[in-house]
Amino acid sequence: MTFSGALTLTDLNDYITPSQACIKPVQQSNAPQNDRAPGDAATVIQIDASGAYYEVGRSADSNGGSKKLQTAEISLNDCLACSGCITSAESVLITLQSHTEVLSVLAQNPSPGAPGHRVPVLSIAPQSLASLAAALPAPIPVARMLRRVRAFARRTLGFAHVFDTTFAREIALREHAREFFERKEGAPGAPLPMLASACPGWVCYAEKTHGEMLPFIAATKSPQQVMGTLVKEWLAAHYWDRRPDEIYHVAVMPCYDKKLEASRSDFYNDHYATRDVDCVITTGELLLLAQEHGVDLSLPVPGEDDAPIPISSTTPTLPDLLTPPGSSSGSYLHSLILAVARASQRPLTLESKAVRGNADYVEHTLRDASSGDTVFRGATCYGFRNLQNVVRRVGRAAGVQVGRGAAGRLAGGLRSSATREVMACPGGCVGGGGQLRAPERHSKTSADADGTPLWNTRAWTREVDRAYWGGPARPGPGSGDLSNKGNNKASCSPTLELSSGTESDDRVEALVARVFLDLSAPTGPQQEQEVGTGAGSGPGPESRALDEARRRGLFRTEYRAVESEVVGLGVKW
Ligand code: SF4
Repeated sequence: MTFSGALTLTDLNDYITPSQACIKPVQQSNAPQNDRAPGDAATVIQIDASGAYYEVGRSADSNGGSKKLQTAEISLNDCLACSGCITSAESVLITLQSHTEVLSVLAQNPSPGAPGHRVPVLSIAPQSLASLAAALPAPIPVARMLRRVRAFARRTLGFAHVFDTTFAREIALREHAREFFERKEGAPGAPLPMLASACPGWVCYAEKTHGEMLPFIAATKSPQQVMGTLVKEWLAAHYWDRRPDEIYHVAVMPCYDKKLEASRSDFYNDHYATRDVDCVITTGELLLLAQEHGVDLSLPVPGEDDAPIPISSTTPTLPDLLTPPGSSSGSYLHSLILAVARASQRPLTLESKAVRGNADYVEHTLRDASSGDTVFRGATCYGFRNLQNVVRRVGRAAGVQVGRGAAGRLAGGLRSSATREVMACPGGCVGGGGQLRAPERHSKTSADADGTPLWNTRAWTREVDRAYWGGPARPGPGSGDLSNKGNNKASCSPTLELSSGTESDDRVEALVARVFLDLSAPTGPQQEQEVGTGAGSGPGPESRALDEARRRGLFRTEYRAVESEVVGLGVKW
């Protein structure tokens, strides 16, 4: 089965195609009988016209009686062990999210101004740009790669607008901080520690296997989905004079999980029958598109080193490549550390420690500089093995039974004022499954001589990470606004000194304010309907309640345990 030009699944011997049904077995609990010949069955199963199953006795003392059999229950574990139906459902979704689908939609799109025309918009993750930039024979800065992708997408593919997703991430990070403080103040149903992440891989894992963990997962949308909101609800309505369904929004992301995330029902606008993100393609698929159109991303394009367009809050143009220090997977923890430090208004120190020397599990502790009291604890945690440990530790601290194992061997418990930045891929998003393979020059120098796929090695992930940061230094959590910049070694104690901000920060601040101001004003029938209910965006407590509800509707989501949804079995073909 082929998902895309870059991913193929093979050896699926339990794969259920969309035309087949999952067969529920019946339960037979009869004990062995002694009055029959060896090899004879004690009973036979009969099915009546309604499809009910009966167990009919064969032995002399059974008098030919029959017993209706119960249909056996299929547990979530049975489903996960099979995975055929889940795989087929996902494959159908992913087929609709491919680079061929993008080409097909663009080819059928009526001309601008003609009825039915949709404005094509492309947004690309910074990790995807880093992968494209690092894989070139002569690596280039991500800013230059963004210009080349923009030129290709506009001139060759016909996209009207091309953005990176970092401004959307900026809004997501602010909403995350807001959510953290709500939890800290005891918001109902929103406990601490908070598991913060932009990773649908991790969220799907929690939904399928650890439903009891869902309240701990931050409900703020990922940058991909915030970008969908900005494109369809903000830019389209307020600056392009378009409805959400008149936009075709394609996102370029570092992994396939993002396709499934875009397909979630939470991100479907029923009123306009459209998704926030219409199609997600991977970094590899974008490169494939370029190659199929004879475009070489290693060649310069005119103006690729020009100064960026200044940020303006009056004629909004999304700023390019806002890259806060922290991690190349979104800087979720770093942004919270800064938010906590700003809120505490006292000198703090930051300690960072890799747990057992594991660079994918690093704990960070903020302490009061004079008393030494712990103010905040957090950790960056990448890869499923480490995630499993985090889930168990959080479960233990919260009194939730999530299994036993390695967690019991990790020292220390979780304090309530804690946050984890959790990502499914080892090394984080720069090492996502949709990223480019290591070029030949890396395969020669890689330490993995045992046949491990080189595109997935730590050496190559580090290369992409370097490209993301634009140099060899990787600023760790707590850097940037700290007196001891860039220090993310196993253990450090820089003193936290917050910067006063730059002109660029002020402009970003003004643009964020513009987004919220615009989004609080009604623009279409859906919002006008809300105003018509008596809770408009005018002054008064009702309007403030609506603004808060609207803000949550725009920038947060909900997670559900898979048991209540029966993935795959509930899909209608
Ligand atoms: Fe995708 Fe991996 Fe990043 Fe998760 S960590 S969002 S699975 S690339």
